[in-house]
Amino acid sequence: MLSTKRIARGLRGRLNRLGLQLQGVLRPGGAFHCNACGNDVPGFFAYGPTQDWGCPRCGSSPRERFVRHVVDSGLMRLPGKNARILHIAPSEQSLVALFSASGADYVRADIYPESYPGQDVRRVDLCDFPAGDERYDLIYASHVLEHILDDQLAMRNICANLTPSGEAWIIVPLHDRPTEEGGPNMPRRERERRFGQWDHVRFYGEDIALRLQLAGFAVERFAATDLPTDLRRRQGLTDADTLWRCRPVVA
Ligand SMILES: [Zn+2]
Repeated sequence: MLSTKRIARGLRGRLNRLGLQLQGVLRPGGAFHCNACGNDVPGFFAYGPTQDWGCPRCGSSPRERFVRHVVDSGLMRLPGKNARILHIAPSEQSLVALFSASGADYVRADIYPESYPGQDVRRVDLCDFPAGDERYDLIYASHVLEHILDDQLAMRNICANLTPSGEAWIIVPLHDRPTEEGGPNMPRRERERRFGQWDHVRFYGEDIALRLQLAGFAVERFAATDLPTDLRRRQGLTDADTLWRCRPVVA
């Protein structure tokens, strides 16, 4: 469902991006840096309420640049060559490239694979995802759980599909209050108003860590706010960019 508010947001973002692209052509380089495409840029275009959101060159989001940063800086490591990576909702192109280049057996999946025409994307419903013989060393799910009503089931299934030494990297939109649930019957417009999108069923707070622990994970938090202010500003990271590294608790 596209509301007029969302259309206006998209239009504003596109105009903003176009302006920055033009600026980049007239005066190449810039005071900002996109680590997703490796270019210096004059700024990041706005999206919704976030002023410095997208790279005018590659379209990368702040969370995409944040993940690139934690991997490129060695804060977190990708699994090795013989590992298996499952990428849920694989729409962030620089991460698709990063995971593909790791040498691991890389599987892309989504509940709606038809949203990726011409691409090799498998259908996976995290609420109907029994653990099979093929376990993963890394399951990456960014901005997925806020769409799922039974997030505990999805989290348990992610945990069950990891190898004992595997990791899930989870990112969700985060606000500075406890998690707010919408439930199955909340009208779409109300979801859009309260959670930012009509297809979001909740707005997580930092207490997502407790939910992940309940699902069987030991949880570590990596937040953009822990990085130097200059770096955050230059790479267009936002205060909400937080990655939860989840490892199965082995009994
Ligand atoms: Zn870029």
